Amino acid sequence: MTQIDEKIEPIFAEVLRRNAGEPEFHQAVREVLESLGRVIAKHPDYANDALIERICEPERQIIFRVPWVDDKGQVQINRGFRVQFNSALGPYKGGIRFHPSVNLGIVKFLGFEQTFKNALTGMPIGGGKGGSDFDPRGRSDGEIMRFCQSFMTELYRHIGEYTDVPAGDIGVGGREIGYLFGQYKRLTNRYEAGVLTGKGLVYGGSRARTEATGYGAVYFVERMLATRKLELAGKRVVVSGAGNVAIYTMEKILAFGGKIVACSDSSGYVSDETGIDLGLVKEIKEVRRQRISEYARRKGTGTHYVEGGSIWDVPCDIAMPSATQNEVTGKDARALVKNNVIAVGEGANMPCTPDAVNIFQNAGVLFAPGKAANAGGVATSALEMQQNASRDSWTFARTEERLATIMRDIHDACAETAEEYGAPGDYVLGANIAGFVRVAEAMRAMGVV
Ligand code: GLU
Repeated sequence: MTQIDEKIEPIFAEVLRRNAGEPEFHQAVREVLESLGRVIAKHPDYANDALIERICEPERQIIFRVPWVDDKGQVQINRGFRVQFNSALGPYKGGIRFHPSVNLGIVKFLGFEQTFKNALTGMPIGGGKGGSDFDPRGRSDGEIMRFCQSFMTELYRHIGEYTDVPAGDIGVGGREIGYLFGQYKRLTNRYEAGVLTGKGLVYGGSRARTEATGYGAVYFVERMLATRKLELAGKRVVVSGAGNVAIYTMEKILAFGGKIVACSDSSGYVSDETGIDLGLVKEIKEVRRQRISEYARRKGTGTHYVEGGSIWDVPCDIAMPSATQNEVTGKDARALVKNNVIAVGEGANMPCTPDAVNIFQNAGVLFAPGKAANAGGVATSALEMQQNASRDSWTFARTEERLATIMRDIHDACAETAEEYGAPGDYVLGANIAGFVRVAEAMRAMGVV
Protein backbone atom coordinates (compact mmCIF):
# COMPACT_ATOMS: atom_id res chain seq x y z
CA MET A 1 0.00 0.00 0.00
CA THR A 2 1.27 3.49 -0.84
CA GLN A 3 1.97 5.71 2.15
CA ILE A 4 -0.15 8.75 2.88
CA ASP A 5 1.89 11.95 3.15
CA GLU A 6 2.57 12.80 6.80
CA LYS A 7 0.72 16.12 6.52
CA ILE A 8 -2.36 14.28 5.26
CA GLU A 9 -2.17 11.32 7.64
CA PRO A 10 -4.06 13.13 10.46
CA ILE A 11 -6.87 13.93 8.01
CA PHE A 12 -7.23 10.24 7.23
CA ALA A 13 -7.10 9.34 10.93
CA GLU A 14 -10.01 11.73 11.50
CA VAL A 15 -11.96 10.21 8.56
CA LEU A 16 -11.50 6.78 10.16
CA ARG A 17 -12.61 8.04 13.56
CA ARG A 18 -15.62 9.91 12.29
CA ASN A 19 -16.84 7.19 9.91
CA ALA A 20 -16.30 4.05 11.97
CA GLY A 21 -17.33 0.74 10.43
CA GLU A 22 -17.40 1.94 6.82
CA PRO A 23 -14.52 0.03 5.16
CA GLU A 24 -15.46 0.83 1.55
CA PHE A 25 -15.61 4.55 2.34
CA HIS A 26 -12.21 4.36 4.06
CA GLN A 27 -10.80 2.54 1.03
CA ALA A 28 -12.07 5.15 -1.44
CA VAL A 29 -10.85 8.08 0.67
CA ARG A 30 -7.48 6.48 1.31
CA GLU A 31 -6.86 6.00 -2.39
CA VAL A 32 -7.47 9.68 -3.12
CA LEU A 33 -5.49 10.90 -0.10
CA GLU A 34 -2.52 8.74 -1.14
CA SER A 35 -2.41 10.76 -4.38
CA LEU A 36 -2.59 14.16 -2.70
CA GLY A 37 0.88 14.19 -1.15
CA ARG A 38 2.29 15.22 -4.51
CA VAL A 39 -0.31 17.96 -4.83
CA ILE A 40 0.47 19.67 -1.56
CA ALA A 41 4.21 19.28 -2.18
CA LYS A 42 3.74 21.35 -5.34
CA HIS A 43 0.92 23.62 -4.12
CA PRO A 44 1.07 23.78 -0.30
CA ASP A 45 -1.94 26.12 -0.22
CA TYR A 46 -4.26 23.19 -0.99
CA ALA A 47 -3.60 22.04 2.56
CA ASN A 48 -4.98 25.33 3.93
CA ASP A 49 -8.44 26.09 5.31
CA ALA A 50 -9.25 22.42 5.94
CA LEU A 51 -9.99 22.08 2.23
CA ILE A 52 -9.09 18.38 2.09
CA GLU A 53 -11.04 17.70 5.30
CA ARG A 54 -14.09 19.44 3.83
CA ILE A 55 -13.89 17.40 0.63
CA CYS A 56 -13.95 14.19 2.70
CA GLU A 57 -17.10 15.25 4.55
CA PRO A 58 -20.44 14.86 2.70
CA GLU A 59 -22.49 18.05 2.54
CA ARG A 60 -25.64 16.19 3.54
CA GLN A 61 -26.66 12.59 4.35
CA ILE A 62 -30.29 11.53 4.25
CA ILE A 63 -31.54 8.21 5.62
CA PHE A 64 -35.19 7.27 5.47
CA ARG A 65 -37.73 4.50 5.98
CA VAL A 66 -39.24 2.92 2.87
CA PRO A 67 -42.41 0.97 3.71
CA TRP A 68 -44.19 -0.93 0.93
CA VAL A 69 -46.63 -3.79 0.43
CA ASP A 70 -45.57 -6.99 -1.34
CA ASP A 71 -47.74 -9.15 -3.61
CA LYS A 72 -48.91 -11.24 -0.65
CA GLY A 73 -50.21 -8.15 1.10
CA GLN A 74 -47.38 -8.20 3.65
CA VAL A 75 -45.83 -4.91 4.72
CA GLN A 76 -42.08 -4.72 4.04
CA ILE A 77 -39.55 -2.20 5.32
CA ASN A 78 -36.34 -1.09 3.66
CA ARG A 79 -33.91 1.69 4.32
CA GLY A 80 -33.33 4.47 1.78
CA PHE A 81 -30.25 6.68 1.46
CA ARG A 82 -29.18 9.76 -0.42
CA VAL A 83 -25.74 11.19 0.25
CA GLN A 84 -25.31 14.65 -1.27
CA PHE A 85 -21.56 14.68 -1.26
CA ASN A 86 -20.35 17.79 -3.03
CA SER A 87 -22.09 20.54 -5.00
CA ALA A 88 -19.12 22.76 -5.83
CA LEU A 89 -19.30 22.06 -9.57
CA GLY A 90 -23.05 21.67 -10.03
CA PRO A 91 -26.13 19.96 -8.63
CA TYR A 92 -25.41 16.67 -6.86
CA LYS A 93 -25.37 13.95 -9.51
CA GLY A 94 -25.08 10.21 -9.21
CA GLY A 95 -27.02 7.00 -9.35
CA ILE A 96 -29.28 5.04 -7.05
CA ARG A 97 -28.41 1.47 -6.18
CA PHE A 98 -30.91 -1.18 -5.08
CA HIS A 99 -29.02 -4.11 -3.62
CA PRO A 100 -29.13 -5.93 -0.25
CA SER A 101 -25.50 -4.91 0.43
CA VAL A 102 -26.33 -1.18 0.40
CA ASN A 103 -25.59 0.67 3.63
CA LEU A 104 -24.46 4.18 4.49
CA GLY A 105 -20.75 3.37 4.07
CA ILE A 106 -21.28 1.97 0.58
CA VAL A 107 -23.33 4.99 -0.49
CA LYS A 108 -20.66 7.32 0.93
CA PHE A 109 -17.87 5.56 -0.93
CA LEU A 110 -19.86 5.80 -4.14
CA GLY A 111 -20.73 9.46 -3.54
CA PHE A 112 -17.09 10.31 -2.82
CA GLU A 113 -15.89 8.57 -6.01
CA GLN A 114 -18.69 10.20 -7.96
CA THR A 115 -17.53 13.67 -6.94
CA PHE A 116 -14.13 13.24 -8.60
CA LYS A 117 -15.50 11.24 -11.52
CA ASN A 118 -18.01 13.96 -12.29
CA ALA A 119 -15.30 16.62 -12.04
CA LEU A 120 -13.23 14.65 -14.55
CA THR A 121 -16.04 14.73 -17.11
CA GLY A 122 -15.66 18.50 -17.33
CA MET A 123 -19.47 18.81 -17.09
CA PRO A 124 -21.16 21.05 -14.49
CA ILE A 125 -22.19 18.32 -12.05
CA GLY A 126 -21.50 17.79 -8.36
CA GLY A 127 -21.35 14.38 -6.69
CA GLY A 128 -23.99 12.32 -4.89
CA LYS A 129 -25.26 8.78 -4.59
CA GLY A 130 -28.26 6.99 -3.18
CA GLY A 131 -29.86 3.65 -2.81
CA SER A 132 -31.60 1.11 -0.69
CA ASP A 133 -30.98 -2.31 0.78
CA PHE A 134 -34.06 -3.45 -1.18
CA ASP A 135 -33.36 -6.65 -3.14
CA PRO A 136 -35.12 -6.51 -6.53
CA ARG A 137 -34.28 -10.13 -7.33
CA GLY A 138 -37.40 -12.23 -7.74
CA ARG A 139 -39.73 -9.27 -7.22
CA SER A 140 -42.66 -8.74 -9.58
CA ASP A 141 -43.10 -5.59 -11.66
CA GLY A 142 -45.86 -4.51 -9.30
CA GLU A 143 -43.61 -4.89 -6.25
CA ILE A 144 -40.81 -2.96 -7.96
CA MET A 145 -43.24 -0.18 -8.83
CA ARG A 146 -44.67 0.09 -5.32
CA PHE A 147 -41.18 0.10 -3.85
CA CYS A 148 -40.02 2.85 -6.24
CA GLN A 149 -43.12 4.92 -5.48
CA SER A 150 -42.55 4.66 -1.76
CA PHE A 151 -38.84 5.46 -2.15
CA MET A 152 -39.67 8.58 -4.16
CA THR A 153 -42.37 9.64 -1.70
CA GLU A 154 -39.55 10.60 0.64
CA LEU A 155 -36.78 11.35 -1.86
CA TYR A 156 -38.72 13.91 -3.91
CA ARG A 157 -38.35 16.65 -1.28
CA HIS A 158 -34.55 16.42 -1.48
CA ILE A 159 -34.00 16.45 -5.27
CA GLY A 160 -34.64 18.70 -8.27
CA GLU A 161 -33.02 19.69 -11.54
CA TYR A 162 -31.00 22.44 -9.80
CA THR A 163 -30.47 20.50 -6.56
CA ASP A 164 -29.79 16.83 -7.02
CA VAL A 165 -30.27 14.63 -10.09
CA PRO A 166 -30.31 10.86 -9.44
CA ALA A 167 -29.96 8.14 -12.10
CA GLY A 168 -29.51 4.38 -12.18
CA ASP A 169 -26.84 2.10 -10.78
CA ILE A 170 -26.87 -1.59 -9.81
CA GLY A 171 -30.51 -2.77 -9.62
CA VAL A 172 -31.89 0.47 -11.05
CA GLY A 173 -32.41 0.63 -14.82
CA GLY A 174 -34.94 2.08 -17.24
CA ARG A 175 -37.93 0.39 -15.59
CA GLU A 176 -37.14 1.75 -12.13
CA ILE A 177 -36.31 5.25 -13.41
CA GLY A 178 -39.73 5.27 -15.13
CA TYR A 179 -41.55 4.44 -11.87
CA LEU A 180 -39.47 6.96 -9.92
CA PHE A 181 -40.08 9.73 -12.46
CA GLY A 182 -43.81 8.98 -12.58
CA GLN A 183 -44.10 9.32 -8.82
CA TYR A 184 -41.97 12.51 -8.74
CA LYS A 185 -44.26 14.05 -11.35
CA ARG A 186 -47.39 13.18 -9.34
CA LEU A 187 -45.99 14.47 -6.07
CA THR A 188 -44.71 17.77 -7.42
CA ASN A 189 -47.20 18.38 -10.24
CA ARG A 190 -44.22 19.39 -12.40
CA TYR A 191 -42.91 17.89 -15.61
CA GLU A 192 -39.33 18.43 -14.54
CA ALA A 193 -37.51 16.19 -16.99
CA GLY A 194 -34.06 17.17 -15.71
CA VAL A 195 -34.67 15.78 -12.22
CA LEU A 196 -33.63 12.24 -13.17
CA THR A 197 -31.46 10.81 -15.94
CA GLY A 198 -31.50 7.44 -17.61
CA LYS A 199 -35.12 8.13 -18.60
CA GLY A 200 -36.87 6.32 -21.46
CA LEU A 201 -36.54 7.94 -24.88
CA VAL A 202 -40.27 8.70 -25.08
CA TYR A 203 -40.22 10.90 -21.97
CA GLY A 204 -36.98 12.86 -22.13
CA GLY A 205 -34.21 10.28 -22.07
CA SER A 206 -31.05 10.66 -24.09
CA ARG A 207 -30.00 8.41 -26.91
CA ALA A 208 -26.82 6.48 -26.06
CA ARG A 209 -27.32 6.86 -22.27
CA THR A 210 -28.01 3.12 -21.91
CA GLU A 211 -24.83 2.27 -23.80
CA ALA A 212 -22.68 5.11 -22.46
CA THR A 213 -20.89 3.60 -19.45
CA GLY A 214 -19.75 0.49 -21.31
CA TYR A 215 -18.98 2.28 -24.57
CA GLY A 216 -17.08 4.97 -22.70
CA ALA A 217 -14.97 2.45 -20.79
CA VAL A 218 -13.95 0.83 -24.07
CA TYR A 219 -13.08 4.20 -25.64
CA PHE A 220 -10.88 4.88 -22.62
CA VAL A 221 -9.11 1.53 -22.84
CA GLU A 222 -8.60 1.88 -26.59
CA ARG A 223 -6.90 5.25 -26.07
CA MET A 224 -4.84 3.90 -23.18
CA LEU A 225 -3.67 0.98 -25.38
CA ALA A 226 -2.74 3.46 -28.11
CA THR A 227 -0.15 5.02 -25.76
CA ARG A 228 1.72 1.72 -26.23
CA LYS A 229 0.84 1.48 -29.91
CA LEU A 230 -1.57 -1.36 -29.19
CA GLU A 231 -5.21 -1.80 -30.16
CA LEU A 232 -8.26 -3.82 -29.14
CA ALA A 233 -8.63 -5.65 -32.41
CA GLY A 234 -7.80 -9.32 -32.03
CA LYS A 235 -7.43 -9.17 -28.24
CA ARG A 236 -8.96 -11.67 -25.82
CA VAL A 237 -11.15 -9.80 -23.37
CA VAL A 238 -12.80 -10.91 -20.14
CA VAL A 239 -15.71 -8.76 -18.94
CA SER A 240 -17.14 -9.58 -15.53
CA GLY A 241 -20.82 -8.99 -14.89
CA ALA A 242 -23.77 -9.17 -17.25
CA GLY A 243 -25.60 -5.98 -16.33
CA ASN A 244 -25.85 -2.69 -18.19
CA VAL A 245 -22.16 -1.80 -17.94
CA ALA A 246 -20.90 -5.28 -18.93
CA ILE A 247 -23.31 -5.72 -21.84
CA TYR A 248 -22.42 -2.44 -23.55
CA THR A 249 -18.73 -2.91 -22.79
CA MET A 250 -18.95 -6.19 -24.67
CA GLU A 251 -20.86 -4.56 -27.52
CA LYS A 252 -18.17 -1.92 -28.08
CA ILE A 253 -15.31 -4.38 -27.72
CA LEU A 254 -16.88 -6.45 -30.48
CA ALA A 255 -17.22 -3.31 -32.61
CA PHE A 256 -13.48 -2.68 -32.16
CA GLY A 257 -12.73 -6.25 -33.24
CA GLY A 258 -11.94 -7.73 -29.83
CA LYS A 259 -13.05 -11.20 -28.73
CA ILE A 260 -15.01 -11.69 -25.51
CA VAL A 261 -14.07 -14.98 -23.91
CA ALA A 262 -15.99 -14.84 -20.62
CA CYS A 263 -18.67 -12.97 -18.67
CA SER A 264 -20.39 -13.61 -15.34
CA ASP A 265 -23.06 -12.83 -12.80
CA SER A 266 -23.10 -13.14 -9.01
CA SER A 267 -23.58 -16.91 -9.20
CA GLY A 268 -20.66 -17.83 -11.48
CA TYR A 269 -19.00 -17.29 -14.82
CA VAL A 270 -19.33 -18.65 -18.31
CA SER A 271 -16.43 -18.93 -20.74
CA ASP A 272 -16.87 -19.43 -24.45
CA GLU A 273 -13.81 -20.05 -26.63
CA THR A 274 -15.85 -19.39 -29.76
CA GLY A 275 -16.50 -15.88 -28.46
CA ILE A 276 -19.43 -14.84 -26.26
CA ASP A 277 -22.69 -14.50 -28.21
CA LEU A 278 -23.84 -11.09 -27.00
CA GLY A 279 -27.33 -11.47 -28.47
CA LEU A 280 -27.88 -14.50 -26.27
CA VAL A 281 -26.52 -12.73 -23.15
CA LYS A 282 -28.87 -9.81 -23.81
CA GLU A 283 -31.85 -12.10 -24.21
CA ILE A 284 -31.06 -14.00 -21.01
CA LYS A 285 -30.22 -10.94 -18.89
CA GLU A 286 -32.25 -8.05 -20.30
CA VAL A 287 -35.39 -9.84 -21.48
CA ARG A 288 -35.76 -12.99 -19.41
CA ARG A 289 -33.83 -11.78 -16.33
CA GLN A 290 -32.33 -15.26 -15.85
CA ARG A 291 -28.99 -16.52 -14.45
CA ILE A 292 -25.88 -16.62 -16.69
CA SER A 293 -25.71 -20.44 -16.30
CA GLU A 294 -28.58 -20.39 -18.79
CA TYR A 295 -26.06 -19.25 -21.43
CA ALA A 296 -24.06 -22.49 -21.23
CA ARG A 297 -27.24 -24.55 -21.16
CA ARG A 298 -28.59 -22.84 -24.29
CA LYS A 299 -25.37 -22.54 -26.31
CA GLY A 300 -23.76 -25.86 -25.37
CA THR A 301 -20.52 -26.82 -27.17
CA GLY A 302 -17.44 -24.72 -26.50
CA THR A 303 -18.97 -23.12 -23.42
CA HIS A 304 -18.11 -23.79 -19.83
CA TYR A 305 -20.04 -22.64 -16.75
CA VAL A 306 -18.21 -22.45 -13.43
CA GLU A 307 -20.43 -21.98 -10.41
CA GLY A 308 -18.88 -19.67 -7.82
CA GLY A 309 -15.47 -19.65 -9.57
CA SER A 310 -13.27 -16.65 -10.32
CA ILE A 311 -13.66 -15.32 -13.85
CA TRP A 312 -10.13 -13.88 -13.56
CA ASP A 313 -8.70 -17.38 -13.95
CA VAL A 314 -9.66 -17.21 -17.64
CA PRO A 315 -6.55 -16.12 -19.61
CA CYS A 316 -7.02 -12.78 -21.37
CA ASP A 317 -5.16 -9.76 -22.79
CA ILE A 318 -7.62 -7.27 -21.39
CA ALA A 319 -9.75 -7.46 -18.25
CA MET A 320 -12.76 -5.22 -17.74
CA PRO A 321 -14.26 -5.73 -14.27
CA SER A 322 -17.81 -4.47 -14.69
CA ALA A 323 -19.74 -6.08 -11.84
CA THR A 324 -19.21 -4.52 -8.41
CA GLN A 325 -16.76 -3.21 -5.79
CA ASN A 326 -13.80 -5.32 -4.69
CA GLU A 327 -14.53 -8.14 -7.15
CA VAL A 328 -10.84 -8.36 -8.18
CA THR A 329 -8.66 -9.41 -5.23
CA GLY A 330 -4.88 -9.60 -4.98
CA LYS A 331 -5.10 -13.31 -5.80
CA ASP A 332 -7.15 -12.57 -8.92
CA ALA A 333 -4.68 -9.86 -9.96
CA ARG A 334 -1.77 -12.29 -9.61
CA ALA A 335 -3.62 -14.81 -11.80
CA LEU A 336 -4.22 -12.14 -14.45
CA VAL A 337 -0.60 -10.98 -14.39
CA LYS A 338 0.60 -14.58 -14.63
CA ASN A 339 -1.55 -14.94 -17.74
CA ASN A 340 0.08 -11.79 -19.21
CA VAL A 341 -2.82 -9.37 -19.02
CA ILE A 342 -1.91 -6.11 -20.83
CA ALA A 343 -4.61 -3.75 -19.61
CA VAL A 344 -7.32 -3.54 -16.95
CA GLY A 345 -10.22 -1.10 -17.32
CA GLU A 346 -12.61 -0.68 -14.42
CA GLY A 347 -16.20 -0.51 -15.68
CA ALA A 348 -17.64 -0.89 -12.19
CA ASN A 349 -16.97 1.45 -9.26
CA MET A 350 -13.84 0.39 -7.34
CA PRO A 351 -13.90 -3.26 -8.53
CA CYS A 352 -10.18 -3.81 -7.80
CA THR A 353 -8.96 -3.99 -4.21
CA PRO A 354 -5.96 -1.76 -3.34
CA ASP A 355 -3.85 -4.90 -3.32
CA ALA A 356 -4.94 -5.77 -6.86
CA VAL A 357 -4.25 -2.23 -8.12
CA ASN A 358 -0.71 -2.38 -6.69
CA ILE A 359 -0.05 -5.73 -8.32
CA PHE A 360 -1.18 -4.45 -11.72
CA GLN A 361 0.81 -1.25 -11.47
CA ASN A 362 3.98 -2.96 -10.25
CA ALA A 363 3.72 -5.45 -13.13
CA GLY A 364 3.49 -2.60 -15.65
CA VAL A 365 -0.11 -3.43 -16.60
CA LEU A 366 -2.03 -0.45 -18.02
CA PHE A 367 -4.61 0.27 -15.33
CA ALA A 368 -7.65 2.53 -15.82
CA PRO A 369 -9.43 3.40 -12.56
CA GLY A 370 -13.22 3.43 -12.56
CA LYS A 371 -13.60 7.09 -11.72
CA ALA A 372 -12.01 7.86 -15.09
CA ALA A 373 -12.86 4.82 -17.22
CA ASN A 374 -16.53 4.52 -16.29
CA ALA A 375 -17.30 8.25 -16.32
CA GLY A 376 -19.01 7.98 -19.71
CA GLY A 377 -22.30 7.03 -18.07
CA VAL A 378 -22.60 10.08 -15.88
CA ALA A 379 -21.14 12.29 -18.63
CA THR A 380 -23.98 11.21 -20.90
CA SER A 381 -26.39 11.85 -18.04
CA ALA A 382 -25.09 15.41 -18.11
CA LEU A 383 -25.79 15.47 -21.85
CA GLU A 384 -29.31 14.26 -21.05
CA MET A 385 -29.70 17.18 -18.62
CA GLN A 386 -28.46 19.50 -21.34
CA GLN A 387 -31.03 18.17 -23.81
CA ASN A 388 -33.79 18.45 -21.21
CA ALA A 389 -32.83 22.05 -20.37
CA SER A 390 -32.96 23.05 -24.02
CA ARG A 391 -36.04 20.87 -24.74
CA ASP A 392 -34.06 19.15 -27.43
CA SER A 393 -33.31 15.58 -28.43
CA TRP A 394 -30.06 14.68 -30.16
CA THR A 395 -29.35 11.86 -32.57
CA PHE A 396 -27.48 8.77 -31.42
CA ALA A 397 -24.49 9.71 -33.56
CA ARG A 398 -24.23 13.23 -32.14
CA THR A 399 -24.51 11.99 -28.56
CA GLU A 400 -22.00 9.21 -29.04
CA GLU A 401 -19.57 11.60 -30.65
CA ARG A 402 -19.75 13.87 -27.61
CA LEU A 403 -19.22 10.83 -25.40
CA ALA A 404 -16.15 9.75 -27.38
CA THR A 405 -14.67 13.25 -27.14
CA ILE A 406 -15.32 13.42 -23.41
CA MET A 407 -13.64 10.04 -22.84
CA ARG A 408 -10.65 11.09 -24.92
CA ASP A 409 -10.35 14.29 -22.90
CA ILE A 410 -10.63 12.40 -19.59
CA HIS A 411 -7.93 9.98 -20.69
CA ASP A 412 -5.63 12.80 -21.74
CA ALA A 413 -6.26 14.83 -18.58
CA CYS A 414 -5.35 11.79 -16.44
CA ALA A 415 -2.25 10.99 -18.50
CA GLU A 416 -1.04 14.62 -18.57
CA THR A 417 -1.67 15.13 -14.86
CA ALA A 418 0.23 11.95 -14.00
CA GLU A 419 3.11 13.18 -16.11
CA GLU A 420 3.01 16.67 -14.57
CA TYR A 421 3.16 15.19 -11.07
CA GLY A 422 6.08 12.91 -11.86
CA ALA A 423 4.31 9.58 -12.30
CA PRO A 424 3.87 8.99 -16.04
CA GLY A 425 1.41 6.21 -16.87
CA ASP A 426 -0.16 6.23 -13.39
CA TYR A 427 -3.81 6.78 -14.26
CA VAL A 428 -4.88 6.37 -10.63
CA LEU A 429 -2.78 9.31 -9.57
CA GLY A 430 -3.71 11.31 -12.66
CA ALA A 431 -7.46 10.79 -12.15
CA ASN A 432 -7.36 11.54 -8.43
CA ILE A 433 -5.34 14.70 -8.82
CA ALA A 434 -7.14 16.04 -11.89
CA GLY A 435 -10.53 15.44 -10.23
CA PHE A 436 -9.43 16.83 -6.88
CA VAL A 437 -7.95 20.03 -8.30
CA ARG A 438 -11.18 20.91 -10.14
CA VAL A 439 -13.35 20.41 -7.06
CA ALA A 440 -10.83 22.12 -4.77
CA GLU A 441 -10.52 25.16 -7.05
CA ALA A 442 -14.28 25.66 -7.15
CA MET A 443 -14.61 25.27 -3.38
CA ARG A 444 -11.80 27.72 -2.75
CA ALA A 445 -13.46 30.31 -4.96
CA MET A 446 -16.65 29.98 -2.90
CA GLY A 447 -15.02 30.61 0.49
CA VAL A 448 -15.62 28.41 3.49
CA VAL A 449 -18.25 26.04 2.09
N1 GLU B 1 -24.31 5.11 -11.49
C1 GLU B 1 -23.50 5.62 -12.57
C2 GLU B 1 -22.11 5.93 -12.05
O1 GLU B 1 -21.62 5.23 -11.20
C3 GLU B 1 -24.16 6.75 -13.33
C4 GLU B 1 -24.57 7.93 -12.53
C5 GLU B 1 -25.39 8.97 -13.28
O2 GLU B 1 -25.63 8.81 -14.48
O3 GLU B 1 -25.78 9.94 -12.63
O4 GLU B 1 -21.43 6.81 -12.47
